[in-house]
Amino acid sequence: MRHNIVAGNWKMNKNAGETTQLLAAILNQLPSGKEVEVIVAPSFVNLSQAVHILEHTNIGVAAQNMHQAEGGAFTGEVSADMLTSIGVHNVIIGHSERRAYFKENDALLANKVDTALKHEMRVIFCIGEELKDRQDKQHFNVVENQLRDGLFHLEANAWVNIVLAYEPVWAIGTGETASPEQAQEMHKFIRETIQHHYGSPVAENVSILYGGSVKPDNAKEIFSKPDVDGGLIGGAALKAEDFIAIVDAV
Ligand code: PGA
Repeated sequence: MRHNIVAGNWKMNKNAGETTQLLAAILNQLPSGKEVEVIVAPSFVNLSQAVHILEHTNIGVAAQNMHQAEGGAFTGEVSADMLTSIGVHNVIIGHSERRAYFKENDALLANKVDTALKHEMRVIFCIGEELKDRQDKQHFNVVENQLRDGLFHLEANAWVNIVLAYEPVWAIGTGETASPEQAQEMHKFIRETIQHHYGSPVAENVSILYGGSVKPDNAKEIFSKPDVDGGLIGGAALKAEDFIAIVDAV
């Protein structure tokens, strides 16, 4: 069901000791009684530890990536089975950094989604245009293609385990945020595109997060938009006070 989610994507930050510290600080400051699901995504090597620390809490744990194969000769990779076996049941797939630096294309990402869903994981699937796409007024096309090629092969009932994150690449880590109106415009477009393909129940039930330089001082306005169901937070997820302030802004 559609609901508010704030997920922290820690990227390649925080060693083991820092992971423990940050999680302790987040737990310490987490407001109670907020209607928001909180998720953190530390690096692979610290996931076990995060699951352990967060065991009896309401905070979920996500991996930042995974391999599409079940296992085998893929040096350096991590499988869905490995993740679920340590209690990680959420995975971010298709982050723009994976797309850009590791050449992950839509076909590959569609495979990763299938593998994750087969293992009953929930997928946070990232989509978003680059600056030149927006300048060329191609941003709607780009996002529609990413949706279609990455996810529209799924049956409607698979969508209960899909969360979307709209992250315009030009707003990630740049300090430049999409305006709340730009975010709402794209989120509405995404929901309508899903509605055209799958019908209203799927479109109305999917949570669509915004990501890209969300900070304590802009979160409230972005989250107040009707089609924005929370955020995927990078830089501001690395400081407990900032992350908590963003959770509080929902
Ligand atoms: P940012 O990153 O909040 O640092 O812009 C967001 C993301 O990449 O998920």
